[in-house]
Amino acid sequence: MITEGLQLIVIGPPGSGKGTQSMALATQIGAVHISTGDLFRHHEREETSIGDQIQSFIKKGDLVPDNITIEMLKEKIKSLTNNMGYILDGFPRTLNQAISFDTMLTSTNSKLDLVICIEVPQEQLENRLLHRTVCMECSLVYGTDDSGQDQQYCANCEGKLYKRVDDADKEVIGHRLEKYKEFSQPIINHYQEHGILHRVDGTGSVLEVTNTIKKVVASSFKGTLLFNY
Ligand code: ADP
Repeated sequence: MITEGLQLIVIGPPGSGKGTQSMALATQIGAVHISTGDLFRHHEREETSIGDQIQSFIKKGDLVPDNITIEMLKEKIKSLTNNMGYILDGFPRTLNQAISFDTMLTSTNSKLDLVICIEVPQEQLENRLLHRTVCMECSLVYGTDDSGQDQQYCANCEGKLYKRVDDADKEVIGHRLEKYKEFSQPIINHYQEHGILHRVDGTGSVLEVTNTIKKVVASSFKGTLLFNY
């Protein structure tokens, strides 16, 4: 590692590997991984007032209302130590969230460095979601390729693997994929207009996609040594 204070977004449909790739990249560049989905699941487990408000949205595969999501994310970012880089995973999911985030960045004299959009054909996504399990402790994802299908505990932290409630039902999965189709294009256009969007093919193995993303990041920050390959 390498560079301080990079602010990145990884977007992609459910099952595209954005969580896995964001986590890997965050470790490699020394940034904080912020997943709004993980934050919501944490609130649910801890039975906080946010947890109570969001439960039904997540269970049905609906988006959590923007005001709750944006407020939660702002609090999280405020809690980071100064100049700490971060990677947002699962945010923004609506154009309104993207615009609110721009306003927040401007008001803190900050800017987004890069947006990576992971692309995977729709027909592969449902299968990945139906077969994946997630670590309760560190949120590492298992079973989307041939490895980890029968694993019960996380190889990273020994946490218990579990099936997310919204990954257990084909209808809910279909609904989430529809929501992504409905809301993602304006967000993609928005970042494309800002000249910071990079598309990445997410159909290879986890390692192949990680390497592609590393190349994109390295070439976007020419002159700064980002990775010790
Ligand atoms: P996936 O991408 O597999 O759907 P996430 O963990 O990113 O998984 O999100 C899980 C759920 O959390 C979403 O279906 C939605 O209900 C809620 N959620 C996460 N991020 C957001 C967001 N930025 N805006 C609204 N809802 C969100």
